[in-house]
Amino acid sequence: MVDKHTAVTLGAWIGKAEQIAILTHTNPDGDAIGSSLALALALKKLGKDARVVIPDGLPDFLRWLPGISLSTTFAYKKEKAISIIEGADLIFCLDFNDPNRLNGVKEHLMASSAQKVLIDHHQDPVHFTDITISETWRGSVGEMIYLFLRDVFPEDLLDKDVATCLYVAIMTDTGNFNYASSYPEIFHIVGDLMNYNLEKDRIYSRVYDAYSEERLRLQGYVMQEKMVVLARFHTAYISLTDEELKRYKHRKGDTEGFVNIPFAVKGIRFTALFVEKKDRIKVSFRSRGTFPVNKIAAEHYHGGGHINAAGGDSFLNMEDTLKKFESLLPEYAKLLQDI
Ligand code: 5GP
Ligand code: MN
Repeated sequence: MVDKHTAVTLGAWIGKAEQIAILTHTNPDGDAIGSSLALALALKKLGKDARVVIPDGLPDFLRWLPGISLSTTFAYKKEKAISIIEGADLIFCLDFNDPNRLNGVKEHLMASSAQKVLIDHHQDPVHFTDITISETWRGSVGEMIYLFLRDVFPEDLLDKDVATCLYVAIMTDTGNFNYASSYPEIFHIVGDLMNYNLEKDRIYSRVYDAYSEERLRLQGYVMQEKMVVLARFHTAYISLTDEELKRYKHRKGDTEGFVNIPFAVKGIRFTALFVEKKDRIKVSFRSRGTFPVNKIAAEHYHGGGHINAAGGDSFLNMEDTLKKFESLLPEYAKLLQDI
């Protein structure tokens, strides 16, 4: 993944650095947190003061991860987060392609004179770092951190904790190997992680069997009452208002995965999830096959992402947001037809 010349440069930068900050994106997922903690834990083994800064809250299903105490949330501990960034002589940016995905952390990254490295797999990375390592065909940044550790350091920096974080990253970003994982290398990587006493089945359970009762009831409500299937367009969407979320004692991360639910309906190729936030409606898109949801997110929702997973924001109210979404579909009807 890292060519020889870049590996030498990175090795030298890391060798010189004392404090290293690792930043990841807003609304972090398993790949964002897993890759960041894996890198931090590995760098700690080299004697570095490595810390992770998250713009906003951690979902509960990731709180058990090894190395979680190395992370600081900017939204809750602003001063500490800023001092980590200001004190860093090297900054890694993981799992995002645009500094805007850092929200309030962005200005502190931009103000820093530290050397900066991006390791990411999203389409069309913005060049805001000294070194950009971008592999858009990969299912996860977790794999990239695995290869990074192998390519840059002669010693083996992996252990059970690092392997666990990497596995969570890879497992979650591929939907437990349901998508974005149809190439041999990802299984070679996972195969090697198994050499470190990885508790694969236990990890699955800790990540996926970790719902509150309310979360599961909310899912039931969503499937029964809130899923709209537009068979003509091979499309289905789900929307949730703030009132509905409150009714089910919503906690951060509870709507995670809802966008994938309608794929269980035969023929669905395009799904959307609309969740009301304080000042906007967060939009998530998923697709199967060649339907490019990142294009729709970029053109109509100030967002972006991958071909099969993208997101953005709507600043209309919920009713108008849904009307607008339905009105866009005829334009894409041809692309959504049987291939
Ligand atoms: P999710 O639906 O899980 O929030 O996001 C899926 C993917 O869509 C993310 O990995 C990211 O690539 C992209 N994405 C989600 N929200 C945004 C956004 O507001 N802006 C951009 N540029 N990409 C987003
Ligand atoms: Mn990712």
